[in-house]
Amino acid sequence: MAIITKEALKNALDEAQRIILTVHVHPDGDAIGSMVAFYEALSNEGKEVTMVVDDTVPAKYSFLAQVAHIKQPSEVLDWQADMLLVLDASTFERIGKVGSLCKAPIFNIDHHISNSQFADSLYLCPEFAATGEILTYLCDSWGWPITPSMANALYMAIATDCGFFRFSNTTEQTLRMGALCVANGAQPNIVSEHVEVTTAARIEVMKEALQTIQFFKAGRVAIIALDEALMAKVGDDTDGYVDLIRNVDTVDIAILLKAVDAHTTRVSLRAKVTDVNAIANQFGGGGHVKAAGCTINANIQGAIEHLLAVIA
Ligand code: 5GP
Ligand code: MN
Repeated sequence: MAIITKEALKNALDEAQRIILTVHVHPDGDAIGSMVAFYEALSNEGKEVTMVVDDTVPAKYSFLAQVAHIKQPSEVLDWQADMLLVLDASTFERIGKVGSLCKAPIFNIDHHISNSQFADSLYLCPEFAATGEILTYLCDSWGWPITPSMANALYMAIATDCGFFRFSNTTEQTLRMGALCVANGAQPNIVSEHVEVTTAARIEVMKEALQTIQFFKAGRVAIIALDEALMAKVGDDTDGYVDLIRNVDTVDIAILLKAVDAHTTRVSLRAKVTDVNAIANQFGGGGHVKAAGCTINANIQGAIEHLLAVIA
């Protein structure tokens, strides 16, 4: 493993001809926006680029033109490449099957403090709010044109990872990179309308979810839980649920629990003060200091007990 500079990354990209691009499973706005923007940037540099993700891409991102070119692993006919470029993924496991199917040297551009340094070459910026912020910065410093469609994708990537410029990871540079995207043609209202879209059916499910909210530790911890029945109604798109509790005045740690099966619970952690990456680490997960995730081998009640036991 080598930590590389942006100059070394640029040299490696200049030398590569065939590049396979991938992102983490359960892809979010940062993952998809970053991948389609860099797909276009690398294609404009004359590279032969394939985008692949070992998961379904949520429909709300399909307003970005290049999303239609994202392949499933089974659709990739040729895994030969000069480089496997992994965006926004902090561990090897998080790229799913792609990691074993592609044998090319792994380059990783990421912003997770918990990055496990799995890549052969790692360009890591934990102080950046989003991988999209890193890519905007790189295109700008290398003089790579940011087209209007790249700008929209990069703006979406940045905005979704910093809560549309409200969370604690929003820095002066995050805002400057967002502004650069707008200067190059990003449309904040169009991005918001697509990414924050909801439906009457979703609001009905949210009503049920609101009834599961519990407060612990004198109101410092709030938990919202989606059991298997609710998860069946919610589907894959669980964005927005943890936001129902994170702004409660007494709450420091907001937790969304999602039942996978009777013995497995996915956990999303958000904090105002506490280091939730450290909490997620205790269950084999990770992320950022103020936003992290993990999987606990227990049902929802068991997960609540395990989590409360490690929270001061
Ligand atoms: P979310 O709660 O939105 O799924 O994830 C919040 C942050 O934690 C994201 O940056 C995500 O990459 C990270 N994260 C979520 N789940 C896991 C996990 O199981 N392992 C690791 N290493 N990171 C995770
Ligand atoms: Mn990200």
